[in-house]
Amino acid sequence: MDYSALANLLFPDITKTIADYEKQYPPRNLPEGAVVTRIAPSPTGFVHLGNLYNAIGERLAHQTGGVFYLRIEDTDQKREVAGAVEAVIDAMNFYGVHFDEGVTKDGESGAYGPYRQRQRRELYQTVAKSLVLRGLAYPCFCTEEDLSAMHEAQEAAKENYGYYGKYAVWRDRPIEDIQSELEKGTEWVLRFRSEGDANQMIPVLDGIRGELKVQENYTDFVLLKSDGIPTYHFAHVCDDHFMRTTHVIRDESWLATLPIHVQLFDTLGWQRPVYCHTATLMKMDGSSKRKLSKRKDPELALSYYHEVGYPQEATWLYLLTVLNSNFEEWHLANPDADSREFTFSLEKMSTSGSLFDLEKLDNISKEYLSRQSAEFVYDGLLAWALHYDAALADRMTKKPDFFKAAINVGRGGEKPRKDYGNWKDAAAFLSFYDAETFALVDECPERADGSMRNEILNRYLDTLSFADTQEEWFAKVKELTEELGYAAQPKKYKKNPELYKGSIVDVTNLLRVALTGRQNAPDIREISQVLGEAETRRRLSAYRN
Ligand code: GLU
Repeated sequence: MDYSALANLLFPDITKTIADYEKQYPPRNLPEGAVVTRIAPSPTGFVHLGNLYNAIGERLAHQTGGVFYLRIEDTDQKREVAGAVEAVIDAMNFYGVHFDEGVTKDGESGAYGPYRQRQRRELYQTVAKSLVLRGLAYPCFCTEEDLSAMHEAQEAAKENYGYYGKYAVWRDRPIEDIQSELEKGTEWVLRFRSEGDANQMIPVLDGIRGELKVQENYTDFVLLKSDGIPTYHFAHVCDDHFMRTTHVIRDESWLATLPIHVQLFDTLGWQRPVYCHTATLMKMDGSSKRKLSKRKDPELALSYYHEVGYPQEATWLYLLTVLNSNFEEWHLANPDADSREFTFSLEKMSTSGSLFDLEKLDNISKEYLSRQSAEFVYDGLLAWALHYDAALADRMTKKPDFFKAAINVGRGGEKPRKDYGNWKDAAAFLSFYDAETFALVDECPERADGSMRNEILNRYLDTLSFADTQEEWFAKVKELTEELGYAAQPKKYKKNPELYKGSIVDVTNLLRVALTGRQNAPDIREISQVLGEAETRRRLSAYRN
């Protein structure tokens, strides 16, 4: 076969060579050990947690003086959604992930572009042509029907699926046959001619998993689709080579096709990048583990965390806890350090189904928020409210000091309160402070209801003085508790319930419901200070029956 004739027949317009691109994209001039990595999302409009997860590469790049870039894998035009690129950039920006080069909102930056795959057609075709010239790629004119017949035959014969061996019907066809199909205008794809042996295992070093042994690829997989657009396999090899990527951090679902990728790198004589396959995010569904699903689990979308309002750093703390076996320990030792100070290493990343658990995220986030200043919480809540709760944002901007005082209740000290881990919960939790959103949620505690309700409230109103210290306040509450026939210590009541109407817990819970609408609320006196005397008295009086 005259490969040169075939190459010119298939790619008459391609005049460049691989050498031209090697010159155009020289090796990067970076310090020894610098990591060059990227995220390479498809612009489908769905930015998922995995994108953020793999953006962990940014830390690796920046820890080593390397480069982190954004490539857009837009070869599947059908799945493309308008605004998707902006959505990725915004989401990454929100989480403090910064790209050194690649696609930007208004174009792109960097010397290794274009960074959108659709604009790299000539490069892929040049590499494809070079493979044809070497006798390592050929056109295949099989129709969909031909391929499904092949699949059925393989199924019936219990043989491996794929285009190989006797099933690779276009592999050794004479050039005349090819020419005649081309003249007829028959659609074709370009296939790789694999010399791989199914019985051969080849070693691949995975940055996270260590040395893997993968089965050598023996199928003649597709390099270019019928529209001349490359498959992911071919495109990412060309791109990661010419963009001088050192580490490919991607989901473990790509492990299955890893043999194809290393075969391409090796055939082209290019140095393989360090592949790093991150563990798929899983969740418990009843008693079994399953993959997070786009359809069933809203928490797979990154937008979920924005909507519910998890602070960025708390989300990172959580992700790092799940992803890196040595992070939790580091964080415990350095609770106030920014997670970016943690030295991230691939070897410590989990290798199998990371269990994703929203409750754990919530707890980490509650802990995190409990250690922040009222100012910080106010700013975060307001930023969230501006997106999702205009009425709250409006009230907050009108009364910033009031909201900050409310947020400050139970903050600081040895054991700060951990009432909320996200802005949505914070909004709900804080709603009782503002007279406009105050609502009675819980019932009056039973043992403080009936005729006692007014007695307690009246007595409390009579003795209440805003000048009292915490001790004075508490002494008065105890006094009225006992005078009205309640036990000042819950223990006493438990021992001899027949001697009392109830205990101090019933009394204070009544006051809590009157003031906050709920039985479970922060310190009564502190809350009253925030509400002010007039509002405190108004709520207590209004709760009388
Ligand atoms: N476009 C691929 C994806 O979104 C990228 C995988 C990779 O990082 O190479 O899964």
